[in-house]
Amino acid sequence: MAPQVHVSTHPLVQHKMTLLRDQRTDPKKFRELLREIAVLIAYEATSDLATEEVTVMTPLGQASGYRLRERVGLVPILRAGLGMVEGIWNMMPNAEVWHIGLRRDEQTLKPVEYYNRLPVSPTVDVCLVLDPMLATGGSAVAAVDILKRWGARRIKFVGVIAAPEGIRCLTTTYPDVPIYLAAVDERLNEAGYIVPGLGDAGDRLFGTG
Ligand code: URA
Repeated sequence: MAPQVHVSTHPLVQHKMTLLRDQRTDPKKFRELLREIAVLIAYEATSDLATEEVTVMTPLGQASGYRLRERVGLVPILRAGLGMVEGIWNMMPNAEVWHIGLRRDEQTLKPVEYYNRLPVSPTVDVCLVLDPMLATGGSAVAAVDILKRWGARRIKFVGVIAAPEGIRCLTTTYPDVPIYLAAVDERLNEAGYIVPGLGDAGDRLFGTG
């Protein structure tokens, strides 16, 4: 595995992942699990954010501490990435959220951009691209392309399940983008789904399957 790929070994992540994958898990529970897993993966992905020292007054005196120095942008890839926003945003309420709409052309399996309202120049220091499924890697690469053209300096990919094909695609195209995941599965099937994966993340999240 490339050194920039980080797969969580946390027991809580592994426990929740099993429930997330289970086809009996209904959309309400699926949303809850995806939100929780996203927080746990983002916790690992943000461990190197820059901080600065500050002091505050407690009721008993002065205490030194830290505050985040970097502005963080959460960049969910529509639509399944939306399921990862809320929990992470609760942890970092000052983060900006910039949506990118990429749908997969079912014939070519290539990503087609349909939504992007990024302003002219970057407003954040670190972008966390959110997409639970790193399948072919096409959408992840397309999202990173968009952010790099925008001028983003530091970009991290935060996902849940990856196929080896997706990891290969993203790491070879953008070796400077670290990848944070909960699991790496066996393969992609001919329809571009991760096996065993969890099925269509968007459908399971929004109850549209
Ligand atoms: N997108 C999904 O929702 N599931 C997959 O397995 C692959 C891509």
